[in-house]
Amino acid sequence: MDFLLTPQQQDFRARLRELLGGPEMRQALRDGSRADPHDPDPRPAYRLLGRHRWLAPDWPAERGGAGLDTVCANILTEELAVHHVPDSAHVNSVRNAGRCLLLCGSDRQRERLLPLLAGGDVLAAVLYSEPETGSDLASLRTIARPAHDGWRLHGTKVHSVKTAHCDLAIVAARTGEHPEPLLGITLFVVDLRAPGVTVRPVDGVNHEPFHQVLLDGLRVGPEDVVGDVDEGWLVITEGLAVERVGMDYSARVRAHLAWLRRRAADRGFGSAVAERLDRISTAAEAGRLLAWSMAGRLADGDLDPAEAAESKWLNSELMREVWELSQELSLPHDLLTAHDPGAPEDRTALLLNREAPGLSLSAGTSEMMLQVIAGNLGLEAGDAQ
Ligand SMILES: Cc1cc2nc3c(=O)[nH]c(=O)nc-3n(C[C@H](O)[C@H](O)[C@H](O)COP(=O)(O)OP(=O)(O)OC[C@H]3O[C@@H](n4cnc5c(N)ncnc54)[C@H](O)[C@@H]3O)c2cc1C
Repeated sequence: MDFLLTPQQQDFRARLRELLGGPEMRQALRDGSRADPHDPDPRPAYRLLGRHRWLAPDWPAERGGAGLDTVCANILTEELAVHHVPDSAHVNSVRNAGRCLLLCGSDRQRERLLPLLAGGDVLAAVLYSEPETGSDLASLRTIARPAHDGWRLHGTKVHSVKTAHCDLAIVAARTGEHPEPLLGITLFVVDLRAPGVTVRPVDGVNHEPFHQVLLDGLRVGPEDVVGDVDEGWLVITEGLAVERVGMDYSARVRAHLAWLRRRAADRGFGSAVAERLDRISTAAEAGRLLAWSMAGRLADGDLDPAEAAESKWLNSELMREVWELSQELSLPHDLLTAHDPGAPEDRTALLLNREAPGLSLSAGTSEMMLQVIAGNLGLEAGDAQ
């Protein structure tokens, strides 16, 4: 299946493929893994993309992008996955934090920060979840206490990935008490190297380390507020809707599936395995169609969150199936020999192992996606029985 792309979009995909599959990218990925192979630094690879203005291709040129359309941004998402270039930091830094600043940031924030994010020199984390707060974000306890020059942030954030490599973060904190708990949350852009911030790795379901971020009196001023005070929820839902389009989930499913198929062929697995692979592949094509159709709706400004939840649910559940099949067939063995992040086949095994287990949780768990979908269909709990 392929889509009708304009000549400009086709040209973008072709040039991107050349860069992502070429020797410079291989070297950048090796460089990023040197210091800590378990938590590779994506910045050398992102800087290479940033040099071409392709890390945020749909951002305007004055913000560090290439001024291309949003289809090109989705092509980038697909190609990063196809070439097994780690993209979790890209999702957070450019597609979530960056987009949030692009849409809701002040002129000063946009001018100062977006070119840095688009250049790949600076990464931003997204700090919403807390030890007792995940699916129910309205229960967050991080507080912004008023001070003469703004606020002081106190609280603990958890479950962000790649945060040790990040300089900035978008933090959600409570600034006001309202009967409606989704009101009174404010987003701040913060400097993770500032006094009052401690970043530590913590264990989790993922093989990629999660981080805990302690905020102990971090000073933030009015210039650090993203969007309006007490109105952060609107910005958060905007960002989550983009993630739930499911483009990166869908692209990863297909990329990992192709690898698994090659492994199955090499090792001569029989028709039962071929049947399972075919069934997942067919569903994955449906997942891709759904993701592209959601991406089109987002670009047109009429994305329905319940439909986006369908795409996120389907594509992340397919990823779970790919992960389970890979455990049965190939992955444990391949991980023993996969050490070179510059080699695409090794990189796939490492990435699958590092990222796949958490995908049905991040950006909203599968249960929460099903709740949204059921609500949209007018179903109550227990209706299926
Ligand atoms: C790979 C990965 C990357 C992540 N990156 C980030 C990040 O960058 N920034 C960030 O802030 N957070 C991040 N998270 C955290 C993520 O958003 C949360 O893990 C997620 O929202 C679930 O929250 P929780 O872990 O607290 O689980 P809980 O909300 O405590 O849920 C536990 C279980 O109960 C189920 N459950 C909860 N409520 C309901 C309900 N009402 N109905 C039915 N079932 C329910 C859930 O589906 C889940 O199975 C990441 C998580 C992962 C796995």
